Amino acid sequence: MLPRLSSLVTFPCTISPFAIPYQLTHQFTFQLTIYFTSCLPGGVSTLHFEQFYNIVDGKQRGSDKIHRGVNPATRQELWDVPIASDQDLNDAVVAAKRAFPGWRDTPIEKRKELLGKLVDSFEAHSDDFIELLCRESGKPRKSAAYEVGMIAGLFGHHIGLDMPSDRLEDDDKIVNTEYTPLGICAAICPWNFPISLMVGKVAPALLTGNTIIVKPSPFTPYTSLKFVELAQAIFPPGVIQIVGGNNELGVSMCLHPDIDKISFTGSIATGKKVMETAGRTLKRVTLELGGNDASIILPDVDIKKVASEVVMGAFQNSGQVCVATKRIYIHESIYKEFLAEMVTATKTFKVGSPDDGDNKLGPVQNQMQFERVKGLVSDSKIRGYKFAAGEPDVTASKGFFIQPTIIDNPPNDSRIIQEEPFGPIVPTQPWSDLEEVIARANATNTGLGACVWGKDVEQASKIARRLEAGSVFVNSFEKLTPQVLFGGHKESGIGAEWGKTGLLAFCNPHVIHVYKS
Ligand code: NAD
Repeated sequence: MLPRLSSLVTFPCTISPFAIPYQLTHQFTFQLTIYFTSCLPGGVSTLHFEQFYNIVDGKQRGSDKIHRGVNPATRQELWDVPIASDQDLNDAVVAAKRAFPGWRDTPIEKRKELLGKLVDSFEAHSDDFIELLCRESGKPRKSAAYEVGMIAGLFGHHIGLDMPSDRLEDDDKIVNTEYTPLGICAAICPWNFPISLMVGKVAPALLTGNTIIVKPSPFTPYTSLKFVELAQAIFPPGVIQIVGGNNELGVSMCLHPDIDKISFTGSIATGKKVMETAGRTLKRVTLELGGNDASIILPDVDIKKVASEVVMGAFQNSGQVCVATKRIYIHESIYKEFLAEMVTATKTFKVGSPDDGDNKLGPVQNQMQFERVKGLVSDSKIRGYKFAAGEPDVTASKGFFIQPTIIDNPPNDSRIIQEEPFGPIVPTQPWSDLEEVIARANATNTGLGACVWGKDVEQASKIARRLEAGSVFVNSFEKLTPQVLFGGHKESGIGAEWGKTGLLAFCNPHVIHVYKS
């Protein structure tokens, strides 16, 4: 079902759950599954997919404080999760410090071998992880399977890399630029792609010889906790640890004097707080933050085909994608027809629970986000904006379900244009002047992604170069690829991860100047 290790390096991986058709070969039933894994250090001996622990220094750790995630498809509480205390975090940092020199000095080929073993071990449990991801995120089963399938690709890409280096030689000297690991990294993660975005931090950190402590989102802790537990069979204690908890634990990580780097993915508002608190000890930070991605549709597109792709870009993962299409600018000559095709395509999207048929979209992941999207729906209604695909019913359901909806030509200063909804609602506007629409697309404090759609690829590519965003897509909706660098412009982030040069985000440059005489 998933690629074998030998083929991992070239495994193509995009983040969109719809980008590659995924054939599932299993019928899934949820049940208590106990796996006996071999040689787990520190007393971690079995994997129970309904018991969850923090992992500190190779050992499972509970807490007298617990919280529970909520299944967004049913609003029912899920399993207990221990909330890590500051003491747990301190202990994890001590263990990470102890483990660091040995891990740093482990030859990279050996580190790669262990990363490969983790992939094999994860693949052996992939059905359980898919089921767990469905429960915690509400994703349709195919989308959950797609995200779980990405893990091998993320590791595979990193296993194919080597430590970066550079060499300069002139008459006087040889200068070798080497890169060394930073030390103890912390991964602070969001809830929209809980396991893949975590692995996107774990893989480069471990490959480059750092130790890492993960903090999952309190909304989706389960797959991350289980993944790190699984990793204990493979890595020495303290190399990869996890402390689940609330937002305050994230603050403690940012303030902790012995954590060297924060790799953060989340909202712009939180990213600013992370920068401020991490700044007190001058930690390295990478901030992967929110966006408000524009799509520009040129007049020469194949209307039916492109309209259905554009709505996919807007509504993938129920719009809860950092690089989802969030503003759609359609040339006025095709505006009506294009919008009508978007509506037709949108109406084919079945929305429902992972347990209920072959749905394309699941619920919004949590109550807070549900209220936020409902707020944008009611604001659009109060202000009299047109709902092109019908007004969604946001009251009746037992889960956080919202039918995807399109707001037809709201004004520039509307909330739905100005804010990142992070849900299944998207605005469209017409345009007539190319310079003006480029300016409109760029008129935002964000700069994560953008798209240009047009038959003339050269013209579309020229426009792409003028869009102020970290990743611009020509004739595709936004898809992430671990083989290329990903990061935001403006308030969408600082630094970048993935690709080859993403490794630099986990390293210190160490420049050795050797004079010849
Ligand atoms: P969030 O900012 O609310 O939370 C992210 C993480 O930060 C969570 O683990 C949370 O517990 C923690 N946290 C909260 N307050 C903190 C603080 N003061 N200090 C340290 N940690 C703190 O984001 P979210 O709601 O989980 O995710 C949605 C947002 O993330 C959207 O804006 C989306 O666009 C963005 N996102 C960006 C990317 C990217 O790669 N650029 C990817 C996915 C999501």
